[in-house]
Amino acid sequence: MITCQQFVAELQDFLEGSLGEDRHAAAAEHLAGCRDCQAFADSYQKVMQMGRRLPAPVPSPRFLERLKAALEKKPPEAAAG
Ligand SMILES: [Zn+2]
Repeated sequence: MITCQQFVAELQDFLEGSLGEDRHAAAAEHLAGCRDCQAFADSYQKVMQMGRRLPAPVPSPRFLERLKAALEKKPPEAAAG
């Protein structure tokens, strides 16, 4: 099972279908069970679609920063050991 951060890092490749079969399956599995990433992927696709209509397609880096910051706020699970 991959983490939200891994999913976010691979989202673009996932949407483009350029991940390997195993990683694509892992990402799809994560997406199916993670509402946060479902919402993020949905927003990301909208941003990308909007970006395609602009001369210089740039997904909002601040949006990604905010998501990553939010994910990093989560306490690590079972970090002890
Ligand atoms: Zn997730």
